Amino acid sequence: MNSACGLLIQPAGFTIDRATIYLKRKTMPRTVTTILNDVFGYDTFRGNQQEIIDHLIAGQHSLVLMPTGGGKSLCYQIPAMVRQGTGLVVSPLIALMQDQVGALRQVGVQAACLNSSLPIEEFREVEKQLECGELDLVYLAPERLLQPATLELLDRCELSLVAIDEAHCISRWGHDFRPEYLLLDTLRDRWPELPMLACTATADQRTRREIVDKLRLGDGRTFITGFDRPNICYRVTTKVNERQQILDFIRSEHLGDAGIVYCLSRKRTEKFAEFLSSHGIPALPYHAGLPARVRQKNQERFLVEDGLIMVATIAFGMGIDKPDVRFVAHMDLPKSIEAYYQETGRAGRDGLPANAWMAYGMQDVIMQARLAENSEADEQFKRSERQKLDTMLGYCETVSCRRQLLLEYFGESLDERCGNCDTCLEPVDTFDGTEAAQKLLSCIVRTGQRFGALYIIDVLRGSESERVLRFGHDQLSTYGIGTELDVWQWRSVIRQLVTRGILAVDLEGYGGLRLTSAARSVLKGETELHLRKETAMIARPSKPKKKKATAATLLDTGTEEEFTANQALFENLRELRRTIATEQEVPPYVIFHDKTLVALALHRPVDGADFLTISGVGQTKLERYGERFLAAIRENS
Ligand code: ADP
Ligand code: ZN
Repeated sequence: MNSACGLLIQPAGFTIDRATIYLKRKTMPRTVTTILNDVFGYDTFRGNQQEIIDHLIAGQHSLVLMPTGGGKSLCYQIPAMVRQGTGLVVSPLIALMQDQVGALRQVGVQAACLNSSLPIEEFREVEKQLECGELDLVYLAPERLLQPATLELLDRCELSLVAIDEAHCISRWGHDFRPEYLLLDTLRDRWPELPMLACTATADQRTRREIVDKLRLGDGRTFITGFDRPNICYRVTTKVNERQQILDFIRSEHLGDAGIVYCLSRKRTEKFAEFLSSHGIPALPYHAGLPARVRQKNQERFLVEDGLIMVATIAFGMGIDKPDVRFVAHMDLPKSIEAYYQETGRAGRDGLPANAWMAYGMQDVIMQARLAENSEADEQFKRSERQKLDTMLGYCETVSCRRQLLLEYFGESLDERCGNCDTCLEPVDTFDGTEAAQKLLSCIVRTGQRFGALYIIDVLRGSESERVLRFGHDQLSTYGIGTELDVWQWRSVIRQLVTRGILAVDLEGYGGLRLTSAARSVLKGETELHLRKETAMIARPSKPKKKKATAATLLDTGTEEEFTANQALFENLRELRRTIATEQEVPPYVIFHDKTLVALALHRPVDGADFLTISGVGQTKLERYGERFLAAIRENS
């Protein structure tokens, strides 16, 4: 990929009506709406974007909470273009800056980043542009910004505002804590007159308070947009044969799509990447143990190529702005709902249908609990980690709407079930599990509260395994009393009892199960237990869904014939986009999003004016790409 912070990309030759061409900076006053329409090519503001923008232009501070893909960047980009001077954007990762700067330059905005990846001449050039007031926006990492030389440089420039992206990095409690973010509080003293906007997609109450305190935004406003990501379908499945399950999932629903598969360990990322590749699904591993060069290369390929799958640890993701990630799969349990929501949030940024899919089992529970237990942290931190894990488990085992649960976690409510999660789409049966639980608990007591799930199930189901006979457990009154449930169903019951705190798992040894104080009332029959009914008795592929979560569904306008024609045109436009992206060495989505291609394939504009009405097409993109796309539409219609 081209260093987006490198030389300005030259517009391709154009012959389209000059009158419609981009209004030159500072030669004409620009209103926020003309910038939205003419520069970014969008018709209307989303949610409370306009309010946030007006607030910032008026010189006020704000904290902006918006879900991923909600459109946070426009909230500071437009004010930076309207206010006199250069807007300063603090961003945690170079990749993130490059992506944003690349996209801004594509629409003709003067933006640059200052970071260590720049060759010295380019660095000097950006410095010069800054001093001459030629830039609307400059992106920096906090460590660069806070260097004395940078601060001195910025003191010599005219600045318009400060935007802190991924502001949750300032929170010690959050999962992306970055100590250098803490130092950002000095900025308010340095430039007291500059309005500051802090934005993030994940922030529970505590993190929100921390951001406001640390950045001293107390006299500003907090803008909260709903956290919901309606286009993401949430699904959780029981781990039976994990390799087969992920393969089936991708094959039946996501062939040719880009996706992220998250694993807990480095080894597992490599294992799954190899497995998927050997089954004809292009996949690359990504984890912190890979040489930086390989990591960089894999990340670039993921951004630039269509339909590649990244099998990664959580080291991958922050700053991945790729809008067309069609699914995020978890092969291991995330450690908290925040982490899960952040990771799954990387799917479907473009607003088109996407899947968040997870396979989990008892082993995951033990693994995460061990990690939390063995960390170096103090007792208070450990307790907080355990609570987070419990909430995560509750989410996995729920029979209610998953979205309702997620939103509730972030302090929002959704009155109706969502209709776009697995428990809504295929409601889960529950059963009165009181008797099953009693049998299980007694069996655990009688075998001495030291065996793991599989052994207990063996005894309950009357196995004649050598181990059971050796311990003489075939003589127990609980031997063979549980044949009405199969192994998978028993596993599910055990997981649910662990989730509800009725059973505890021995984390030091081999995962032995023991009763907690909550078990007594179950044994006595004082508590009735409604449990989720597990139907996965044997490994079976996930049912192919009627609707695939891809851009293609939107091309279906009625008849089979139309659908085929739309699809063919869409593929041609995608090909053209790929060619242009390769010429310019940028990711395809920087040229146009899938959503824009879908709109082009459906509306088939015939001239420049028509082309401009498509969402995602502004003056500069019309100028640069109008001719070629219009020609492709003419040829293929
Ligand atoms: P976030 O940073 O909140 O995850 P972005 O700022 O990257 O989201 O925006 C997500 C996508 O939505 C981008 O492609 C952006 O261009 C698009 N977008 C933002 N605002 C609007 C709008 N008002 N109308 C249409 N698309 C928009
Ligand atoms: Zn739902």
